[in-house]
Amino acid sequence: MYRRGQERILLGYALPIAVKMKEILEMCSAVKRVSLAGSIRRRKETIGDADILVTSGEPLKVMDYFVTLPQVNRVIAQGETKSTVFLSNDFKVDLRVVEERSFGAALQYFTGSKEHNIELRELALKKGWKLSEYDLEDKKSGRILAGKDEKSIYNALDLNYIEPELREKRGEIKTALEGKLPRLVGYDEVRGDLHVHTEWSDGFNSIQEMAMEAKRLGLEYIAVCDHSETLRIAHGLPGEDLLRQLEEVRKINSEIEGFTVLQGVEVNIKTDGSLDIEDQILNEMDIVIASIHSGFKQSREQVTDRLLTAIHNEYVNVIGHPTGRLINRREPYQVDLPKVFEAAAEQDVFMEINAFPNRLDLSDIHSQNARDSSVKLIIGSDAHKIDQLGFIELGIAVARRGWLRPEDVCNTLTVKELKKVLKR
Ligand SMILES: [Zn+2]
Ligand SMILES: [Zn+2]
Repeated sequence: MYRRGQERILLGYALPIAVKMKEILEMCSAVKRVSLAGSIRRRKETIGDADILVTSGEPLKVMDYFVTLPQVNRVIAQGETKSTVFLSNDFKVDLRVVEERSFGAALQYFTGSKEHNIELRELALKKGWKLSEYDLEDKKSGRILAGKDEKSIYNALDLNYIEPELREKRGEIKTALEGKLPRLVGYDEVRGDLHVHTEWSDGFNSIQEMAMEAKRLGLEYIAVCDHSETLRIAHGLPGEDLLRQLEEVRKINSEIEGFTVLQGVEVNIKTDGSLDIEDQILNEMDIVIASIHSGFKQSREQVTDRLLTAIHNEYVNVIGHPTGRLINRREPYQVDLPKVFEAAAEQDVFMEINAFPNRLDLSDIHSQNARDSSVKLIIGSDAHKIDQLGFIELGIAVARRGWLRPEDVCNTLTVKELKKVLKR
């Protein structure tokens, strides 16, 4: 709890809590509309606190309902339009009640980012308008141009709608003015999860259980990528076990309908860049993810060379969690990413967006850089148990924040198309 007080909270921890609070507020009869706002709506990798907006004709009733919820541990402030509480898990939530006619303007304002909003307000000013949390107003005539819904604010300013994930002042307003914003990969467009572990290495569920749960979540395929031999701490598998696992995967595939388990491995990139599973066995796999799990202190040159050597191994499909960072715990290793991306593009090797809450690497900006270098990305939850499969959503958020389109992300392919691109 002390550490949590010092640090920003991981999106993967905060988002389910915020979504739950939203659902609870929707159950209040005095509440009309509810939306998350702030950095959580922009799906930033870490967040400070949760912002929730509601509309209501009876704000006092809403506030009473909110501050007396059993999830609330401490009430910091209770007002007519704004209340702040700490939940029992030490998580701060701000609730604002706004008027229906201002809902869009308030949502825009409280979603941020601050930098994005400043640029947007300047754009309004140039037209002689004023943008506030209440509305977009013509200063001279006092006429209200927009305010009730968010889209109409952007449209009134001659902009295409800008998705919350893009509102970071990274050129999105200029690009929207030109009408050139990318069509972002949708949360419902990812067909499969390309990095999961099972009880064969350090996971907690069987292949069958992971597959059934992924299917229940609406996915069409998963890639089982257990650890390889030298990762002892994670019960890494030697080559012969991977072949035994392949037998089981074949059996499961013959039993499940409308779903495919791909046989893969998360192979270790050793300190000299070689892999700890022989080519002959890698050749049997549907997908090979090569990752660094040791030697983080090597020089930038050494780490870069290691990754380049792995990329040039003709059996490698993906570089897993390509910067090795653990948010709030471990800095990324030193690596020349532009050089890595260049080699990956040339060798048709993909970069992973690892969706595990404290990894999320490649980051949004690095994903965008990879795409700009013609590298394709894959998203993997790195789930070690069935209730971690939902992490995939966090990876999609990173992709969207990195301006990625469906065609930039291999998980949008059908299993048949995917198998084709995995053949090097
Ligand atoms: Zn790993
Ligand atoms: Zn993994």
